[in-house]
Formats: sequence, structure tokens, C-alpha cells
Amino acid sequence: MAFRDLVLSSPILEAIREAGYTEPTPIQAAAIPPILAGHDLIGIAQTGTGKTAAFSWPVLTKLSEQPPQGGRRAPRALILAPTRELAAQIQENIRAYGKHLPLRAASVFGGVSERPQIEALRSGVDLLVACPGRLLDLHGQGYGDLSAIRYLVLDEADRMLDMGFLPAIRQILRKLPRERQTLLFSATLSPEIESLAREFLRSPKLVEIGRRSNPAQTVAQFVYEVAPHLKTALLLHLLKDPKLDMVLVFARTKHRADRLARQLERSGVKTATLHSNRSQSQRMRALRDFKAGAARLLVATDIASRGIDVDGISHVVNFDLPQNPEDYVHRIGRTGRAQAIGDAISFVSPEERGPLRSLERFLGRGIPRKQAEGFHHDVPAPEPSAREERTQASSERPLRPSRAPRAWTRAPRARRSPV
Ligand code: AMP
Repeated sequence: MAFRDLVLSSPILEAIREAGYTEPTPIQAAAIPPILAGHDLIGIAQTGTGKTAAFSWPVLTKLSEQPPQGGRRAPRALILAPTRELAAQIQENIRAYGKHLPLRAASVFGGVSERPQIEALRSGVDLLVACPGRLLDLHGQGYGDLSAIRYLVLDEADRMLDMGFLPAIRQILRKLPRERQTLLFSATLSPEIESLAREFLRSPKLVEIGRRSNPAQTVAQFVYEVAPHLKTALLLHLLKDPKLDMVLVFARTKHRADRLARQLERSGVKTATLHSNRSQSQRMRALRDFKAGAARLLVATDIASRGIDVDGISHVVNFDLPQNPEDYVHRIGRTGRAQAIGDAISFVSPEERGPLRSLERFLGRGIPRKQAEGFHHDVPAPEPSAREERTQASSERPLRPSRAPRAWTRAPRARRSPV
């Protein structure tokens, strides 16, 4: 399918040409025609498939075809997103795709001052991107008129449910006109998502890209079996390969993310960190440094990584396996984005063998094991400070020389991490 076969408005087609895209991605080809035809829609697609454009382009097209009535500029489209990073990202995309259209967009999310957001709402917008909590706050204060909404998008609906936003979503939806078009996007089609769709959508079309649990096809995945105390050394060893030039690393907890980042920095690897204990401006700076190449690595936790849209990530490293398989799929979708080939590497310690088996069952296939060439287990590691020694997870003891031929089988059982 070519872009011209999608009946999008010509200013949007022009912005698409300027973005350098050559053809619609599968989710765009499948979702845009039914959206333009006015249907409610459930889109099952992971991040990295082009799903933001799949709903933004038709919604912008529809908004541009219907100028606001009587000069009133209450938002006519509302996009709900789970995190501020994702909301900011969506607004950035919409600004780029709608740059040749006379439409105004604003975003509202927590963690930053309300003032500029209130000002934007006051001056009138056509399209509003919002996190549910801040939207309700502002609406409660009399800002953000929702009575003119004709198009509603629930983006990463599965994550919104995971984060406990269902009551807030229900409250918001009660304030919207019944006559509207509703689009729901989710990485998976769980029973919870099906029931959400039954509650809020009318005879929706279902568009599902890839198998329910299928991670982006372009990502090559490997498992490195490694003792827990050797994970940092293994990462440093792999980083000798310059092909790992833009690496997103996932750690299980904020504490482990911080600690790993400090160890990497001490070893001379420029590293940024992203987790929910960091302020909005620290998170923005971390993302900026990573995107600009000032930091080669970005160490993140799952929740903070939602909405990260960075082109050119060469590798995703699961320093720790995620708690659930959906998060794995989501994590590895950060590389291999927009058809580039990326590698997803998981460090799996003996304690993580059970979760790995569950993950492989979920994926319906095994993940190939790989040995790190030239990695000997006596690689010296940077010494943690005395304070860190006291706080570090017991499963990550400082490195010591080991003569064990395979750390995998010999590693002692680690107690559960206190973090
Ligand atoms: P998303 O799934 O919305 O997070 O999008 C993933 C990435 O794909 C973003 O960086 C978009 O800029 C990019 N993208 C969206 N549509 C296309 C397309 N048709 N061709 C190439 N890249 C695209």
C-alpha cells in the first residue's frame, strides 16, 4: 500500500513526505481506513510499530475537515496516555505531523507546573493529549472543557489499566459526549482490555498486528546465562564492541538502575538514568543526552520507559528479566523500531531461570543462548563504595576472581533483593 491510497489530507501527506517515510507500516495500513470511515477501533500493536501515527493521521485529517464551530475552540480530540513521557512524545509527533495544518494541540500531565497548561487550554486547542490524573485535576478547577470531544484515543490502554487508571478513565468518559469515535490501542488483547472495549466502544473493528505475544519481528534476541554478581562485568565486556553504540538497559528497580549507572560511569561509560524517582527535568535531560549521543547508555526501569521513542537504539539489554512477559515484549520493542535491525540481550542468572521459562512459554519459542566471547569470569570490576556495599542487593556482590568453568551452574543461591 502507498501513502496516497490512504485518504489523508494533503498537508499531512506533505509532513509524512518530509519525515522521509516511504510506505505505511502494517498497523497504519490496517487501522487508518476504518478510522477514516468513522468506526470505533481496537488496535493491538506494540510501541515501535508506528501506532502513534496510525491514530494521529486520521484524527488530524478529520479535525482539519471540520473547522471549529462559531470560533469556539474547545478540544475536539482527546488522547489519553499513561505517562508524561508518552504524552509529551505523542504531542511532539502530532506537532510534526500537523505542522502544515492550522490546528492547535496541547498536552497536560503531572510533575510540572499547571500554569502553562492552563494558559494553553484557555487560549483554545483543537486536540488535547493528557494523562488522566492531571486532566481530572484541571477539569475540577474549571479548565479543559470536554463537551466538544468527538474523537477519543486511549493509548497504551493495557498500561493505563496496570497503573490503576480505570476509575479516572471512567470519570473522564462520563464527561464526554456519547456521540464520538473511540479508538483503543494496546500492546495485548487481554480479557481486561476486552471488557474495557465493551464498556466504552461501539461495534469496534479489531486490528491486530502480529501474534498477541509476538515481539517485533526485526529484533534478534539472545540470552546470556550469567551469575548475578557478574552481570556488570559482562555488560562492560560486551560494551567493548563499538556496535553497541546506543544501548537501552533495563534494571529491575530504581536502586539497581542508579547503582549500575554509577558503576558504568566509574568505568568511563557515559550513562544516563531514567526512573520515577527522578524529576521531570532530570528525565528530560537524560532522554536528551541519550538521543544526542552524549550518553551511550540509558539505564531505565519499566515504568519510566513507557513512551520512550528514540530512533536508532542499537541494543536493548535486560540487565534483569522483567516481572512479566508483556514488559519483555514492550522493552525489546524499543530496538528494531521502524524496521531497523536491533538486538535484545537478556542477562539471566540461575534465579531467573523460572521466569525465563515462563517468558519462553509466553513467546511460544525458546530464546537462543549465547556465550560472550573472551569473557572470563575474573574480569575485575569497579569497587563499590563502602556505602553501596551496605545497600546493594545481595544478588549483586562485588566481583571476585572465580575459577568456576560456568558461573551459571556454580553460582550460590542469592537471597531475595531487599529493594
Ligand atoms: P510508534 O509505534 O508510534 O512509537 O512509532 C515508532 C517509530 O516509527 C517512530 O519513531 C515514528 O517516527 C516511526 N514511524 C512511524 N510511521 C512510520 C512509517 N510509515 N515509516 C517509517 N517510520 C515510521
